[in-house]
Amino acid sequence: MTHAVRSGAATPTPASTGARIPDHEIVIIGGGLSGIGAAIMLDRAGFSDYLLLEEGDGFGGAWHWNTYPGVGVDIPSFAYQFSFEQITGWSRVYAPGVELKAYAEHCVDKYDVRRRSRLRTTVLAAAYDDADDLWEIRLDGDEVISARYVVAATGVLTKPKEPEIPGVGEFAGEVMHTARWDHSVDLNGKRVAIIGTGASAVQIIPSIASEVEQLTVFQRTPIWCLPKPDGALPWPLRTALSIIPASKALARLVSQTYVEITFPLAAHFHGYVPTASFGEKLGLLHLRRSVKNPDLRRKLTPHYSLGCKRPSFSNTYLRTFNRPNVHLQTDSIEAITPKGVRTADGTEHEVDVLILATGFKVFDKGNMPPFPVSGADGQDLETFWTENRFQAYQGISVPAFPNWFSILGPYGYNGSSYFNLIETQSRHIIRLLKTARKRKATRVEVTEEANAEYFEAALKRRDKQVFFQGRCAGANSYYFDDNGDVPLRPAATLETMWEADHFPLDAYQFTDTTAHLPTQPAR
Ligand code: NAP
Repeated sequence: MTHAVRSGAATPTPASTGARIPDHEIVIIGGGLSGIGAAIMLDRAGFSDYLLLEEGDGFGGAWHWNTYPGVGVDIPSFAYQFSFEQITGWSRVYAPGVELKAYAEHCVDKYDVRRRSRLRTTVLAAAYDDADDLWEIRLDGDEVISARYVVAATGVLTKPKEPEIPGVGEFAGEVMHTARWDHSVDLNGKRVAIIGTGASAVQIIPSIASEVEQLTVFQRTPIWCLPKPDGALPWPLRTALSIIPASKALARLVSQTYVEITFPLAAHFHGYVPTASFGEKLGLLHLRRSVKNPDLRRKLTPHYSLGCKRPSFSNTYLRTFNRPNVHLQTDSIEAITPKGVRTADGTEHEVDVLILATGFKVFDKGNMPPFPVSGADGQDLETFWTENRFQAYQGISVPAFPNWFSILGPYGYNGSSYFNLIETQSRHIIRLLKTARKRKATRVEVTEEANAEYFEAALKRRDKQVFFQGRCAGANSYYFDDNGDVPLRPAATLETMWEADHFPLDAYQFTDTTAHLPTQPAR
């Protein structure tokens, strides 16, 4: 076993009897909004000895990496922020990405997260030390740091996915993925191709269409596109929101209710409330109003139930296809050539710039999280999931992975604002850590029974979910993993919030280091 390179203050282990003392009580992996939120909430709960590790050179996660034209949030900003840090300075109902990035940095500074963070630090592996009840985290540069607990805030949609199309590397022009936008590439007057029509493309296409000479959009599966109740928030309105009592809370409540109806309720309670069917009607009306050409409309019409895959929200995306310089290409792509994109009919579409709006690794091997995690007795997390399907108690804990808590684990996220998820999961983790402190425990592990029960209960709710009751066959949705499961949490947001504070503590075993040190008899 490697020895920890001591770096930073160590927390005395409660009831330590010679067991190794970790470098930090908590290591948080990920400097996105999940990691930032967990750090702030842990600190406020009295867990101030944490170290946050972030691979990038800035905070904000998705909002740090995604800087493509038109990037912005798809959830009203009043709901897309921490409950304890509600600002009213958003320029729009749906804030642009640059404001989310600024918000992340603001939180980092205001809550003193920066001082306890290391940027440009990649985690290569994590291994649990059974003897001392701590995690050893191996970093690039061969450094190892140890922590009693790990909060894995590594997100999911973080690793860009290159399309499995032959010849991508042979393209002679500029090529870039949406999540690694190259701002030095001037699109003005260029012939541009974009592959993909997911949420990123929906924002990019209308943003660049007037600038480029030709824009060819390669669509494999049409996306449901719904109108976006967006608008600028002029300063008098922002000021009013900040000074009129309860107006901020009201704006948040309305926004959260809207999000709840459009996703968690529509997706998980499809069998009770046919919100998705209403949404489809709205989507088709939006399409009819936006696109005049019937042939184009036909090509842009989705043939799967709304909700099977992540829908998009835009008032400008569909209309952009009316422009004479924008071409929708639905023939399948055969190869990328040095000059452009060759479709199955043999046509070579010559372009100067190729944009890959092809999304992210999701349930791909090596992505959840993007480094190996070895738990108690050397159990490998990915192997556990491969053999047992994706599962985690309330999306947080996995049996045999003590002291390891995920923010966005399987069956954790219900589809509401990520901020609900971050706060809910952090409250669950804090409850565990407080209990461990009180009981002088150094090992917190979910029981196999509690995990199995939770997993079974999630599966039982399928008979009401749109993923299993709707027409999802042709959706090509990244919600589905290799087993055909959709590891989203089939619950309303209020239920997830309630559970964070009321899950039975005996779902976990809290043990003391001394209880399993070979030299110490169990007490
Ligand atoms: P995505 O939703 O996964 O979309 C990827 C697109 O690329 C799909 O249209 C896919 O087609 C296409 N594609 C992939 N491989 C292809 C291939 N070999 N040939 C042809 N087409 C191919 O990715 P994304 O648009 O980057 O969005 C990912 C997620 O990030 C979103 O769902 C959302 O959760 C988040 N996001 C959020 C926002 C926001 O809040 N405003 C903005 C951007 C992204 P198929 O559909 O046929 O697979």
